[in-house]
Amino acid sequence: MDFSPIVVSSRAPLAPRNEAFSPRPDFQYYRTVATKTVPKPKLQLLHSEKLAKLPWLIHAFSTRHGGVSRPYGGNALNLGFTKQDTHAAVERNRALFLKKLGITNARTLITLRQIHSDLIHRVESPPEHSLSGDGLITNTSGLLLAILTADCLPIMVVDKKKRAIGVFHAGWRGTVKRIVEKGVGEMQRYFGSDARNMIAAIGPGVQTCCYQVGEEVRQKFEAQFAYAAELFREVKESDPVREKYPMLFLSARAPGHSELPVNLFLNLVEANRRQLIDAGVPAKNIDASSPCTACHTDLLFSHRAEKSITGRLMALAAKRRKNSAHGASRG
Ligand SMILES: [Zn+2]
Repeated sequence: MDFSPIVVSSRAPLAPRNEAFSPRPDFQYYRTVATKTVPKPKLQLLHSEKLAKLPWLIHAFSTRHGGVSRPYGGNALNLGFTKQDTHAAVERNRALFLKKLGITNARTLITLRQIHSDLIHRVESPPEHSLSGDGLITNTSGLLLAILTADCLPIMVVDKKKRAIGVFHAGWRGTVKRIVEKGVGEMQRYFGSDARNMIAAIGPGVQTCCYQVGEEVRQKFEAQFAYAAELFREVKESDPVREKYPMLFLSARAPGHSELPVNLFLNLVEANRRQLIDAGVPAKNIDASSPCTACHTDLLFSHRAEKSITGRLMALAAKRRKNSAHGASRG
């Protein structure tokens, strides 16, 4: 047996790059230098440009790289307690993730038992019992608010004047229940926030390119939103025979009366962007440019693309503690 993994001599041709994956300059693909080990991708985080401008805020969206988990290929940074992974690996990954953000203890990390609801909790200290719900808001420094996802959208909302923060979990169910719209409302109620001072970031999730849904989902949106039609895209299933021999079918049926099945795709990012705008958040303050999880399983976890065997990404936001060299922590 040959255990040497990838040994590429300096004269060997480049391994063909899979064009389905989007290459990133800071990403380690095979190199032409001689090596006996596959380089471990470093822990890599995504940030919103708009949120990064706030010095009092710590925020990040994790990627799959730079952890110690084994079940999802390589050294995965799985941050949720999944069936396949060990508790110890997840705890270690969480510590690595926080360390990368300059946070040295995880005692104030607050996660939820996420249930696709519109339940939002205002927190002033780490809760004694685990909370069920899909939103967390606070204006207390040092609390690390976290949402776990693998296709659903993690959404951060920040009031730059009152220095209040909110994190929300929005799949299609939570979106139909208007979780993010309600989240803005709760921040106004508790913190006296003005939506015009809010900045929002919609993190990585499954996008309209990959988010196929059933007709029943469209009906639920149509019952709730006047703009529902704009959130769905219909794609006729392609038929290779018809594409190859269009003349054969020309007279068989009038155009637009194809019997080919129609696939329906939901734009969940746009749905949540519209809710933020309806709630009063200026469009220019909304960052909605995150990559699609299902398109980028080289970088992110995707429940759909990886057929449920996948890890969890974490979206984390916190108000920096004053007088602390370690950001949100006291060391
Ligand atoms: Zn996609």
